Amino acid sequence: MQSIPLSQPDITDRERLAVAKVLETTQLALGPRITAFEQALADRAGRKHGVAVNSGTSALHLIVRGLGLGEGDEVITTPFSFIASTNCLLFERVRPVFVDVDPRTGNIDPSLIEAAVTERTAGLLVVDVFGQSADWDAVMPVAERHGLKVIEDSCEALGGAWKGRPLGSFGDAGCFAFYPNKQITTGEGGVVVTDSDELAAVCRSMSNQGRGTTPDGWLQHVRLGYNYRISDISAALGTAQMERLDEILAARAGAAGLYNERLGDLVGRFGIELPAVVDGVTMSWFVYVIRLAEGSTADQRDKVIAHLRSKGIGCSNYFAPIHLQPFYREQFGYAEGDFPVTESLGARGIALPFFNKLSPTQADRVVAVLTEALGA
Ligand SMILES: *Cc1c(COP(=O)(O)O)cnc(C)c1O
Repeated sequence: MQSIPLSQPDITDRERLAVAKVLETTQLALGPRITAFEQALADRAGRKHGVAVNSGTSALHLIVRGLGLGEGDEVITTPFSFIASTNCLLFERVRPVFVDVDPRTGNIDPSLIEAAVTERTAGLLVVDVFGQSADWDAVMPVAERHGLKVIEDSCEALGGAWKGRPLGSFGDAGCFAFYPNKQITTGEGGVVVTDSDELAAVCRSMSNQGRGTTPDGWLQHVRLGYNYRISDISAALGTAQMERLDEILAARAGAAGLYNERLGDLVGRFGIELPAVVDGVTMSWFVYVIRLAEGSTADQRDKVIAHLRSKGIGCSNYFAPIHLQPFYREQFGYAEGDFPVTESLGARGIALPFFNKLSPTQADRVVAVLTEALGA
């Protein structure tokens, strides 16, 4: 029985050659491949600057800190996300204030933002969930009305767009991530994208031990910094992947299409929900997450997942709501029922195997086994 992984990077000879070429040089770090990778990312996001780092989490942290958010500030965000989009606030003692999400997309429900604003609200951290744009037309006016900094967590959405405008281009800064399950990979990696010269310079400095920019500044540390640097080896891999981004996004759209064609029947029979793409969005397909019928429980979902896995099909619940993570419950006193839409999406969501080279035969098999599981 052939097993089918949940995700899989897509590496070709272009990437292998690019990495091999770096290994023939003596500059494996702080070199020209990083600059080239940053330029490719900034261009794609329609931004002036890119600051490449060692993870998406690092990028988020640098943005929060670079924008001067800190103790006493509140930032409004959503609990239907990957843990890093809220942890980055806690790193700087910023208080996350959660609002619930749009049940169609899992993105922030803009109609809930205004009521969460207090005199301490300093920012909004908006996630483009699963590669689908948030409703930026509704989000930005609220931010502007209240003078809020805006961070776009576009880590799942490289190459996507909202009404033709690239994701990562909204707000003060955006970021992308390059773990191997993302649209492109550098092994580990991330980037800050911004139009602000100042924010870019501060993020760059903080990513490199707080060094200044003078030529003799190697041992001059002008601010608190970290080692969040990416290597030239990773950056070369990333640039080679960026050169293939359109091909990669097309392949992913094709893989989503394979599921859309095959799952329609299960919508009627079992009430499952397929990913909805709302008007104005150009998807950058990151994952393919179905939901069991409205009202299904996490137990029922876990049974379906166990069945799929027992047949060698990689799958996972996605996302596990952030406010229900043990450490968030402890620290903030969150409980079940606090964010019902997030909890419902979290309890019913199953990410199916999803990667560029998903074949029609593999999609057939996933759907056949899923049908078996749902009928059981
Ligand atoms: C992947 C991801 C990140 C960053 O993850 P890293 O593993 O640190 O690169 C941040 N936010 C979201 C929503 C993500 O999916």
